[in-house]
Amino acid sequence: MKCRVCGSKMNKAKTDLPFKIRSKSIVIIKELPVLQCSRCSEYLIDDQNMAKVEQILSSVDRVAELEIVHFAA
Ligand SMILES: [Zn+2]
Repeated sequence: MKCRVCGSKMNKAKTDLPFKIRSKSIVIIKELPVLQCSRCSEYLIDDQNMAKVEQILSSVDRVAELEIVHFAA
């Protein structure tokens, strides 16, 4: 897999990413597996993990302004 921005190699990594849901709520997903570019800040989430992210986001249906979820949990 190569970076679509700079063409460098993408490496598997885990990171914490914020996802905005609704107008005021932010969900931070921790330890999310991504492909991270070795040269720039570009990253990719593969389809399988993205599907799980969407599942997590749809299950966080509270009024909390900030929710922190571990991806693996
Ligand atoms: Zn890159």
